[in-house]
Amino acid sequence: MTILARRIGQIRPSETKAMTARAAALREQGRDVITLSAGEPDFDTPGNVAGAGIRAIQEGRTRYTPVAGIKPLRAAIRDKLLRDNDLGYTLDQITVGCGAKQIVFNALFASLDPGEEVVIPAPCWVSYPDMVRLAGGRPVIVDCAEADGFKLDPAALETAIGPATKWLLLNSPCNPTGAVYSEAELVGLAAVLRRHPHVWVLADDIYEKLVYGPARFVSMARAAPDLFRRTLVVNGVSKTNAMTGWRVGYGAGPIELIEAMNVIQGQTTSHTSSISQHAAIEAIAGDQSHVPRFAAEFETRRDLVVEMLNRAPGLTCRIPDGAFYVFPSCAGVIGRRTASGRMIETDTDFAMYLLEEAGVAVVPGSGFLAPAYVRISYASATEDLVRACDRIIAACARLC
Ligand code: PLP
Repeated sequence: MTILARRIGQIRPSETKAMTARAAALREQGRDVITLSAGEPDFDTPGNVAGAGIRAIQEGRTRYTPVAGIKPLRAAIRDKLLRDNDLGYTLDQITVGCGAKQIVFNALFASLDPGEEVVIPAPCWVSYPDMVRLAGGRPVIVDCAEADGFKLDPAALETAIGPATKWLLLNSPCNPTGAVYSEAELVGLAAVLRRHPHVWVLADDIYEKLVYGPARFVSMARAAPDLFRRTLVVNGVSKTNAMTGWRVGYGAGPIELIEAMNVIQGQTTSHTSSISQHAAIEAIAGDQSHVPRFAAEFETRRDLVVEMLNRAPGLTCRIPDGAFYVFPSCAGVIGRRTASGRMIETDTDFAMYLLEEAGVAVVPGSGFLAPAYVRISYASATEDLVRACDRIIAACARLC
């Protein structure tokens, strides 16, 4: 007899976290491993933001807060959504949680009845399908081909929607592909959604500020104002402000949904740390000069990594428009053998080969529901990226 609930059998630990843990274990054994598997900036939290957190501790702002988050933070989020995204919300349409991750979870938990479906374009963030399952729903995965820029097209969305569909889960810029939907592409998807008034949109905009070259970020809530009432915008401070450990994310949407999310949060974590909330006010409303600085650095690294990876025999890497990941195809190394005679049969075999024999940790694409790809984060120091790409090139060249 097991202590475990049946629901736990339906989900797996995050592939990203598993790979990062494997790399850490090898490093503890004294191996030289470069970790390009984690989804977090290598920068420090900006000084003004960290200072706001320190001040909150010193001023004793260390007690329970309202479940939805302190008012000045929600006001800063309201102003940000108006300023940056031209979206108007009242304070009670905004909720703050322990990262965008908890906001997505609260939304799914608050809205899904058993068997209801969530359309998820793939490749997708590792956590979405498992969160849907944990909430009792059914993920409906729609494969989006590299030839289409890894993006969902309206016809595929139309086919995926059925009577049980509750949500379309849209993530732009996308983890893991870096794909960014243009306004015209969002308008095309909105035309389908308009024909299906029972379908809501969860727009995970967490990588909003990390968009490069001519690509422009537009939130679905802005691209299709008539769908505003059935759209939940999710965002946070982790990626833009190098604040992954502070755990602050937020959601903005219809009051009925936000209130239900607050009930769930009130019975689970209560709220995110009071200290983090004070720091987040500074991150959202204070000096923003670090934002373009981080983005410019990421763009330079993206170009470097794409150029180097395309020199690796068997890999092909498109240039992503946003986020801080590249998602090269490793189809060309599958079927080849390592120097010790081991066959690379899958993307996981290839990722394990890179970890064990090249000392580089990447995440297999199958974790993102895209076999024959690997995800490589370029949110690491340039020297590490160069060393890692050199090792990947050499490791691919050794395969025969
Ligand atoms: N959404 C996507 C697409 C992500 O990649 C991540 C983090 O990896 C999150 C949400 C969660 O971010 P947070 O740190 O705010 O929980």
